[in-house]
Amino acid sequence: VSDALEGDVALVTGASSGIGAATARALAEEGAAVALAARREERLEELADGIKSDGGEALVVPTDATDEEQVREMVEETVEELGTLDVLVNNAGVMLLEPVAEADPENWQRMLDLNVQGLMVASQAALGHMQEQGSGDIVNLSSVAGRKAYAGSSGYNASKFGVTAFSEALREEVADSDIRVTTIEPGAVDTELAEHIPDEDQKEQIEGMMDEMEPLRPEDIARSIRFAVTQPTHVDINELLIRPTRQE
Ligand code: NDP
Repeated sequence: VSDALEGDVALVTGASSGIGAATARALAEEGAAVALAARREERLEELADGIKSDGGEALVVPTDATDEEQVREMVEETVEELGTLDVLVNNAGVMLLEPVAEADPENWQRMLDLNVQGLMVASQAALGHMQEQGSGDIVNLSSVAGRKAYAGSSGYNASKFGVTAFSEALREEVADSDIRVTTIEPGAVDTELAEHIPDEDQKEQIEGMMDEMEPLRPEDIARSIRFAVTQPTHVDINELLIRPTRQE
């Protein structure tokens, strides 16, 4: 345990499971007060209790990240209750893999609304506060799928390429300040993400891939995020691509 983020406030979306929960814990271990956002409030309460019993500070902010008003309120409540906002981790996401010919356009819309639009609105809402204080970290969860397209992943690819592009454009816009933007691109991580895949073939393929190799654990990605946000102010880790060693 160290204290690199002592006095800082971090807001993590999708904190009710997987990478988001592990990241919230890791940032709390560095001394940050953490705001936990997602839809499943009970899960957030459990996580908050764990962080508090380890001596940390946590705030539960139930949020549907596809709802613009709720996203803006999430940021406002964090600032009101915890005093400021230094680190935003845009992690909430869904991966609804389907081949184009069979895809339900509503699933494309869900991915764009959450993975892209929700992340963009949250970034905008956080930016106001960060610009006022002249510094901050915006960490966006893209994916290997934000750099490499593959069959069966079109809609998810479109959303994650969108995240990578948005992050880089935003980074350039704020490069005249101490606001940093970091894109995280994980390979296969063992979480609940694959459970929601609507296409059975795609689901089996992903589950098979997970069984064949040792996937990353949520903590492996949390460690990378922690690394990025604890750098000296003049260092911006722009992009981190992290695959399991045995992933092609
Ligand atoms: P999980 O499914 O375990 O977690 C997803 C999180 O997103 C949950 O906390 C969920 O909470 C939240 N979420 C889903 N819908 C909404 C919504 N409408 N509003 C608010 N929160 C929502 O998956 P991961 O931890 O794996 O995924 C985290 C991020 O990492 C995603 O962006 C994913 O694309 C990315 N990623 C994951 C990889 C992997 O292999 N696992 C690889 C590359 C990238 P709740 O349901 O309570 O709202």
